[in-house]
Amino acid sequence: MSNANSTNGKGASSEPRFIIIGAGMSGILSAIKLKEAGLDYAIYEKADRLGGTWRENEYAGLSCDVPSHLYCYSFAPNPDWSHRFSPGAEIQAYFVDIAERYGIDKEIQYNKKITRCAFEDGRWQIETSDGSTDAGDFVIAATGVLHEPAYPDIEGLDSFQGTVFHSARWNHDAELAGKRIGVIGTGSTAIQIVAALIDDAKELSLFQRTAQWVTPQENPAFTEEEKADFRAHPEKMQQMREFIAKGFADGFANAVIDANSPELRMIHDTCVANLENSVKDSALREKLRPNYRAGCKRLIMSEDFYDAIQKPNANLVTEGIERIEQTGVRTKDGELHELDVLILATGFRVDRFMRPMNVIGRNGTKLDDVWSHGPCAYMAITIPEFPNIFMLNGPNGPVGNFSLIDVAELQFSYIMKLVDQVRSGACKEVSVSQEAMEKFDEERKEAAKSTIWQSGCNSWYLDANGVPAVWPWTFDRFRDEMANPRLDHFDLR
Ligand code: NAP
Repeated sequence: MSNANSTNGKGASSEPRFIIIGAGMSGILSAIKLKEAGLDYAIYEKADRLGGTWRENEYAGLSCDVPSHLYCYSFAPNPDWSHRFSPGAEIQAYFVDIAERYGIDKEIQYNKKITRCAFEDGRWQIETSDGSTDAGDFVIAATGVLHEPAYPDIEGLDSFQGTVFHSARWNHDAELAGKRIGVIGTGSTAIQIVAALIDDAKELSLFQRTAQWVTPQENPAFTEEEKADFRAHPEKMQQMREFIAKGFADGFANAVIDANSPELRMIHDTCVANLENSVKDSALREKLRPNYRAGCKRLIMSEDFYDAIQKPNANLVTEGIERIEQTGVRTKDGELHELDVLILATGFRVDRFMRPMNVIGRNGTKLDDVWSHGPCAYMAITIPEFPNIFMLNGPNGPVGNFSLIDVAELQFSYIMKLVDQVRSGACKEVSVSQEAMEKFDEERKEAAKSTIWQSGCNSWYLDANGVPAVWPWTFDRFRDEMANPRLDHFDLR
């Protein structure tokens, strides 16, 4: 066992020491902000590279459905985005560049998966997969939301003799050109994969369990002149960011929390028109028509999916899957769809967050026990009896309606206001009170009833009881809450 040292050049002081778990978007953000504040931290990453979701997802066709000038740190705009919605590799390169520019990359302790994190004698003691240990006064769990792939429980999956992989474990060695490819799933991921692979595939079979609404989405490239203009006038990027953020909040984020909003009806009508106008064959059109309202599941934005699925080498399979066999997928009608490659675009285990890490709070309280009925956290950040540990983009947060970067920045500033309670000497331990947690959850569940997510579909937004595990209020409310922590909701000791 070795004791890991502080990595950001700060020595011992009376100031608190932070442990940041994860070097994705929110972990890098935390390190930058702590460095700016002159505070001591160590940053741990389970993988051998930074980037989080943008490292893990390298599938064909990957891009982000939040416009690039909004999907970047507010303090680090990027004049070089290639497109309105830039490809995943570009987003990954952005985070690598930012980590280098702020000197974070050299500080990250790679290949160290934190296995145990326990609050003992007033400090967080951590253990990593290689047996090393460390301790900090505060932990920032920047572990991400969608990071554990969900593999489908389909009989015979292991028997497939072709190449099979999950979308978040993309097999770059797999030969795809000229092959018979199967894709299971119709989420945001699958839709992008289908559009990216269709032209080179010999045949592509999309196994659809549930149809999806698709809203048309143009994705123009920025010209070299526009990029030069952004470089010369950074304020234009800020204006564009504000413009997009406002449009996003008014037109979408605030609409989805009210199932009867006129904006949602417009989104629904746009999706219906997109389906009607884009898909020529009536039988195919009906197979692609969902039986729930647009926005209930994560809305798909695509400029090319309908074109792709109408190509002669595309096959939309709506019969349920019976089992997977050595040579392909057998559907319930008895047909065998022979395949060379099978891609599982089947999503993620959405209830993981910090786990599988063994997190132990005050008096031996185990996170797994507290979350046995599902993950919960006040403001998606803090949990009763788990003092001085905070999550960025934790459970029941704004994952369905805002840019997660904006969310993380606001949450980080909130966390620092809580940390200030300790730094000022007002207390040594800060966590939400049990009473405030329960009240918050009751109000959240009540508000969720009028959201579009609870309007009659199945999606990863819903918890085991069918309640949307998503922030059900406006972005303004979120911003206000983050700006002004209600200290009377906290247990300060
Ligand atoms: P997802 O939305 O959870 O979709 C998983 C798909 O797999 C669904 O169509 C699901 O069908 C299907 N599926 C799962 N198990 C199955 C089984 N046993 N048999 C048949 N079908 C099965 O996952 P995702 O597409 O990876 O997207 C997850 C989230 O990542 C998105 O909602 C979004 O938040 C984010 N994302 C964003 C972007 C972007 O920004 N463009 C791109 C990709 C992902 P059912 O619908 O019937 O359950």
